Amino acid sequence: MTAKRGEPAEIMKELALFYDDLEQAIKPLLAMHAGRLKCGRGCTSCCVDEITVFQVEAENIGKKHGDLLRKGRPHEPMACAFLDDRGNCRIYESRPYVCRTQGLPLRWIEETVQGRMVEMRDICPLNDTHPPIESLDEEMCWTLGPFEEKLATLQLKLGGWDLKRIALRDLFA
Ligand code: SF4
Repeated sequence: MTAKRGEPAEIMKELALFYDDLEQAIKPLLAMHAGRLKCGRGCTSCCVDEITVFQVEAENIGKKHGDLLRKGRPHEPMACAFLDDRGNCRIYESRPYVCRTQGLPLRWIEETVQGRMVEMRDICPLNDTHPPIESLDEEMCWTLGPFEEKLATLQLKLGGWDLKRIALRDLFA
């Protein structure tokens, strides 16, 4: 039977494609910055408690990790609810978009109060080595915006949800 829009199977399929596209897009950046990226198992500095997701990603996590959400306990506050006691992500294969780009040099465009568009950059302090991120070409940074828009489109298309975000911690029963 073919899944209809908004059905869990369709949501999981479309999100899997989205994550595949994302992984392909960030692959060259991971290779390019391999020397500066300290990201790896055991490093949890990005796994903060304030992370929120769209409903579409929440549904995906709920479908794939229902037992954990119903019977498991969230990590103590001050860290992401999905960390285990040894600092591992308990939903790593289904981790949301935001977790997949953490650690890379990020760039985005922001409007100042004077109405001027300016480029902003940021990187995890642990990865803030040489060359400085200010000196990197645009193509050497992950540009925030396009994939966020794709995700917002999926959110609207698949579930008809608004763009409200949900705290990861609130996914636990
Ligand atoms: S979902 Fe996983 S990778 Fe993302 S912040 Fe939480 S523990 Fe870290």
